Amino acid sequence: MAVPIEICRSLPKVALHDHLDGGLRPATIVEEARLIGHRLPTDDPEALGEWFYAAADSGSLVRYLETFDHTIAVMQTAAQLHRVAAEFVEDQAADGVVHAEARWAPEQHLTAGLSLVEAVEAVRDGLAEGMATCAAAGRPIVAKQILTSMRHGVPTTRIAELAVAYRYDSVCGFDIAGAEDGYPPSRFAEAFDYLKRHNFEFTIHAGEAFGLPSIWEAVQLCNASRLGHGVRLADDIAADGTLGELAGYIRDRRIPLELCPSSNLQTGIAGTIAEHPFGLLAALKFRVTVSCDNRLMSRTTLSREFALLSEAFGYELADLRRFSVNAAKSAFLPFDERLILIDQVKAGFAAAGFTA
Ligand SMILES: [Zn+2]
Repeated sequence: MAVPIEICRSLPKVALHDHLDGGLRPATIVEEARLIGHRLPTDDPEALGEWFYAAADSGSLVRYLETFDHTIAVMQTAAQLHRVAAEFVEDQAADGVVHAEARWAPEQHLTAGLSLVEAVEAVRDGLAEGMATCAAAGRPIVAKQILTSMRHGVPTTRIAELAVAYRYDSVCGFDIAGAEDGYPPSRFAEAFDYLKRHNFEFTIHAGEAFGLPSIWEAVQLCNASRLGHGVRLADDIAADGTLGELAGYIRDRRIPLELCPSSNLQTGIAGTIAEHPFGLLAALKFRVTVSCDNRLMSRTTLSREFALLSEAFGYELADLRRFSVNAAKSAFLPFDERLILIDQVKAGFAAAGFTA
């Protein structure tokens, strides 16, 4: 029997792949847009939430990315970034998330005059406020930021440098995102080399809208320690489950896959969750993790993703625990903090009735 969403909500979860600009509350967008005179498709929060879902549901990654014009428009001042970051933490904690990494691209938040440093510090302070609020309410959560470079822009090292500069001050990693087809990871080789020289963690969106060559570059040329999506790795697995060399390498090395089922349906990977390669990758014991990508555009939460997967593939508490432990093992945290997180996840599943 499928694990119901109420139980999923009570389970300790780790959100590795969640875009800060893809998870705003519709009511916050309406309020902030009104203050700055930004025109929205509708001013009714509920209708706006539906508009985001429908616009993102068109089946094209490019069209999907267009919805971000509205969220990014209301994330341009320090106060706006602070608010969105604080609400990100509160919403994740309310959903039972105990560790969350919020990724966003600082370069897209400078139109009102913020400097990169001011933008990063505004998010840092918002995350800190959110964590303090949640701790006071008895729902402790750790939230970090991953700084993203937009891959279709002119390749630069400055966001990688910014990430390293704030590595002890709320930034846990680096990422590249945006249109994947035509913008291979190797374009940012210089940024990745900089990060490697500084022993700093990064993930790469690869194998979402484009196939195996993108994943290969991310892993072998750039040395990403996690893969954003990586779902097209399924193209390297034969019908009888035999792994191609790249898929074999990624499984052997336990490279985490940040899989986002509902988001992938919207960008056309599969028609239903049951047809999503998650089932195949999990059955073959890849290090699969579950994330939302964009909670607003996909009208989802991590609990809902767990419940949908359980319903589609018959996953029980033991399976969901494996996915949560996988994510805890893959968090961009120092090893000692990761061990604490893994124990916390295991204890939470035990409290929810899991017995080994
Ligand atoms: Zn993403």
